[in-house]
Amino acid sequence: MRVMAQMSMVMNLDKCIGCHTCSVTCKQAWTNRSGVEYVWFNNVESRPGQGYPRTYQNQDRWEGGWTRTRTGRLKPRAGGRIKKLFSIFANPKMPAMQDYYEPWTYDYEHLLTAPAGDDTPVARPKSLLTGKDTKVTWSANWDDSLAGGNEIAAGDPILQQMSEQVRQEYEKAFLFFLPRICEHCLNPSCAASCPSGAIYKRAEDGIVLVDQDRCRGWRMCVTGCPYKKIYFNHRTGKAEKCTFCFPRIEIGQPTICSETCVGRLRYLGLMLYDADAVGKAAAVKDEHALYEAQKSVFLDPHDPQVIAAARAADIPDDWITAAQRSPIWDLIMKYEVALPLHPEYRTMPMVWYIPPLSPVVDILRDTGHDGEDLDNLFGAVDALRIPVDYLAGLFTAGDPAPVTAVLQRLAAMRAYQRRINLGEERDESLAAAVGMTGT
Ligand code: SF4
Ligand code: SF4
Repeated sequence: MRVMAQMSMVMNLDKCIGCHTCSVTCKQAWTNRSGVEYVWFNNVESRPGQGYPRTYQNQDRWEGGWTRTRTGRLKPRAGGRIKKLFSIFANPKMPAMQDYYEPWTYDYEHLLTAPAGDDTPVARPKSLLTGKDTKVTWSANWDDSLAGGNEIAAGDPILQQMSEQVRQEYEKAFLFFLPRICEHCLNPSCAASCPSGAIYKRAEDGIVLVDQDRCRGWRMCVTGCPYKKIYFNHRTGKAEKCTFCFPRIEIGQPTICSETCVGRLRYLGLMLYDADAVGKAAAVKDEHALYEAQKSVFLDPHDPQVIAAARAADIPDDWITAAQRSPIWDLIMKYEVALPLHPEYRTMPMVWYIPPLSPVVDILRDTGHDGEDLDNLFGAVDALRIPVDYLAGLFTAGDPAPVTAVLQRLAAMRAYQRRINLGEERDESLAAAVGMTGT
């Protein structure tokens, strides 16, 4: 066992309101410079949606360091320095600027100085890159207002005019938000794909960084990261990425996105893991087994054997204490309510998510019950508004079983806590139903 420490994050998607405060504060701190106008180290995607850069999840399109076997499974593309150098010419299959978006500002001057007229002056978008008028056709998070569905509130006349059948279909529509940063993977394919060896994973806390002096602008990391969380600064000619706000972390402060998150949904903490077990876990053949495989590399920071091995590996005592107090261990391993994003990419991501349970009203059966009513939810998870299969496609390589278990546990927790909040008797059977007794 080779114990290492890893800074990690869990985000509770039920609490994200899509306000983008995290993205804006991150941009102000890290990418408020020329050359990276289009870059969002933190972005918040509407789901369902194309993401940012658009269609980044389509690994066949971007060949993000992966290739498919005959059985359709993703496997790492064959490496080798020469091959990588060669393939830069045939490649890189990178997202183009249009896939991120052409950053723009507005012609505010026109707004302020337009002569009085019949119409209100309209600010035209101007490209931040060329300074010329531009037609904005795509942007990060373009999806959430396109359909216009979210603008039709319950009781709206438009809704009233719909036939019952259309209304029922319409009410099944769903939307939630997925905030994303670099995953600071245990098995980072960005680092593996860099011909210059410029990307490294810090030994002390696992944060993945780009050495700006060594970066030669090959951009193989942009191709190699399946999450598309490395960006090219076209002014400096170097790659840049989320730094997990390491200068703040080093003085005991949270990341900017965590500190400013309006929903208070980002949990930060240290995890201990067995570095010797990472390669084997990442290579597990069955994609559905990858979630459990990744969990198997995490080490219980309360276990005396792990504590002894951590000390032998020169991990300071206060770091071990921090791992013991970390909410990450509890959310992933104790309560088992957090899931990895796209474990099938096999990079062993370390930003995990509590999947959204809401909206919880049981629409399909039209009972009027909350989905958090345990009797109603058990056996009827498919009646939730957000389809379990959709969530499974994000978090468990398509396996619905772990997602269902998490949703049921979340529902039980809500039902249990609601009774306490209402001053009713605790219902231990609710806790026992999902194995939470005594927690
Ligand atoms: Fe590298 Fe991408 Fe993983 Fe971040 S998410 S560590 S950029 S492979
Ligand atoms: Fe969601 Fe928090 Fe970001 Fe707002 S600040 S979009 S609530 S993650």
